[in-house]
Amino acid sequence: MKASASPAQPIDAANGKRALDALRTALGKDWVFAAGDQALDAYRDDYALAPHGDTRPWAAVAPGNLKQIQKVLEIARRYKLALWPLSTGRNLGYGGAAARQAGALMLDLKRMKRIIEVNERAAYAVVEPGVSYLDLAARLRKLGGRLWVDSTGSPWGGPLGNFLERGVGYTPYGQHSDTQCGLQVVLADGTVVDTASGIKARTDNLYRYSHGAWVDGLFNQSNFGIVTRIGVQLMPAPAGYRPYLVTVDAEENLQALLDALRPLSLEGLLPGRPTLMTLPRAAAYGATRAQYQTGAGPLRAQAHSRLMAEQARGYWNLYGAFYGAEALLDVHVRELQNALRAVPGARLHFADTRADDAAFKCRAALMGGAPSMDEYKTLDWVGAGAHLDFTAVLPFDGDVAQSASEAARELCHAHGFDDCAEFQLEPRALRLEIRLIFEREVVAQQRAAHAAVSALAARFVSLGHGSPRAHLAFMDDTAASYRWSDDALAHASAAIKDVLDAQGVLAPGKSALWPGRHSGRRK
Ligand code: ADP
Repeated sequence: MKASASPAQPIDAANGKRALDALRTALGKDWVFAAGDQALDAYRDDYALAPHGDTRPWAAVAPGNLKQIQKVLEIARRYKLALWPLSTGRNLGYGGAAARQAGALMLDLKRMKRIIEVNERAAYAVVEPGVSYLDLAARLRKLGGRLWVDSTGSPWGGPLGNFLERGVGYTPYGQHSDTQCGLQVVLADGTVVDTASGIKARTDNLYRYSHGAWVDGLFNQSNFGIVTRIGVQLMPAPAGYRPYLVTVDAEENLQALLDALRPLSLEGLLPGRPTLMTLPRAAAYGATRAQYQTGAGPLRAQAHSRLMAEQARGYWNLYGAFYGAEALLDVHVRELQNALRAVPGARLHFADTRADDAAFKCRAALMGGAPSMDEYKTLDWVGAGAHLDFTAVLPFDGDVAQSASEAARELCHAHGFDDCAEFQLEPRALRLEIRLIFEREVVAQQRAAHAAVSALAARFVSLGHGSPRAHLAFMDDTAASYRWSDDALAHASAAIKDVLDAQGVLAPGKSALWPGRHSGRRK
């Protein structure tokens, strides 16, 4: 992992013992894990990259409530500890349950897993950090299934951590920054802030604004506080639901496909988060690459042709869904059919012909409000796999997407990877997620994945495309690509950091936010 300019100061033995004693008194000895304790091994990146950086924590604590978090903060401030919060610790592909630097005190919030409220009438839930999508879905099912959960492809993660990392889902509620409503946050000095109301208004979790500055976004992809509660809007189960697949054979018809879809997308006629996958990305749900090609190197044309024929796929495979009453679904389908007339070779498929399509099954579940773990089957593409993702945002424009896709493919192939990419369609933008699937324990592959993401990041910056999410190892580089106008954005964030966390105890280096940078510059 990249060395930072602000290494955490190691705690000396005497102070370390005092700090651990204080933590054990505050939390009970069962919830403090120190050197030699096997439980500490869990705080790592399961999908580690080479070159391996040392991110071993100094210790970990698992508080059970808000008061205990405040106590931990007090001890962290007293002993100058770096606290790294984790919710469910499943940020796989972006750093997992590791901190950026060695020597941190991991603040593991998995014990705080209360579903505080499910309001069926107003369709929202309030949950704690340790609640996973699977937990929430189980509760909603028990209540009769009138509300859906919008899960990512990694449902053992949860709504709170996912919101904080700017994650997404696939139903019409898939933009998690838009469906969050109300946060409870503990600041570094122990102050508890409730962003939806100061007076316990009756619209808590119904209306996301109080009065004055709207601060919720400050806690998203930052280290300005410890979030202990989140309100999440839930989608009422619709009267009907029809998942679909559009296939387009020729790689070069991406442009035509996206240009045909853009007007529908802007008009809101492509609800949810339709996801357009390359052939290897879609094939990986139900096959391994060894079935189609032996030896290293990206899949060759012959393997592509076989995959397309045997799995009835195109090079491009768009998984989407329509929602509502049957008559409405029919109208949506007709609109889509009309638009697809402009796309050479486009075919529209529904569930009745996709019984053998493992990708369809997984995507239909996710788009239909049912968490599915099948996304993880795609890692079997290479055997015991892991993944590293590079994500970029592009304008919703066929020409731009075609060039970006070609650049991504060229770089994936140059580093020995298949073109496992997907475009997630938003009304005005495309989120391109390029997935490097590598053999988890093979250092040469970990190294290749690391090199591929570095190359992708450099190329996408040169093409003028930003990246909205980064693995721990790439956070500084990613932030550097946004430093226009004399670093103004970085300095604004540094100023907030230094005010909200003057001692720099919270997650140093998270999203490239290092403590003391603003006050240091002013001296
Ligand atoms: P998930 O619950 O989606 O698996 P993680 O627990 O892996 O998410 O957390 C992802 C990242 O978000 C962590 O590395 C940490 O930087 C940040 N984070 C997680 N939980 C919190 C929290 N409750 N408060 C502040 N930051 C958090």
